Amino acid sequence: MGLAQDLSDVALTFDCPDCSHPAVRKGSALRTIAHFRCNGCNAKVRITYPQKVAIFEKHKLAAQGALR
Ligand SMILES: [Zn+2]
Repeated sequence: MGLAQDLSDVALTFDCPDCSHPAVRKGSALRTIAHFRCNGCNAKVRITYPQKVAIFEKHKLAAQGALR
């Protein structure tokens, strides 16, 4: 678990929890930010550690699936 170092240079896609507008941040950026500016609702949206873990886990599984 945790925020995988090997996703630092990968663009991670996630949905705004308020409006479901898709947002993209690099893993290195996502690991450090506490908020992001949503392009859909233009709100400053708080992103929690458990949410980050879920985003990283989703992309880790997707990356593993692509290798098989
Ligand atoms: Zn939004």
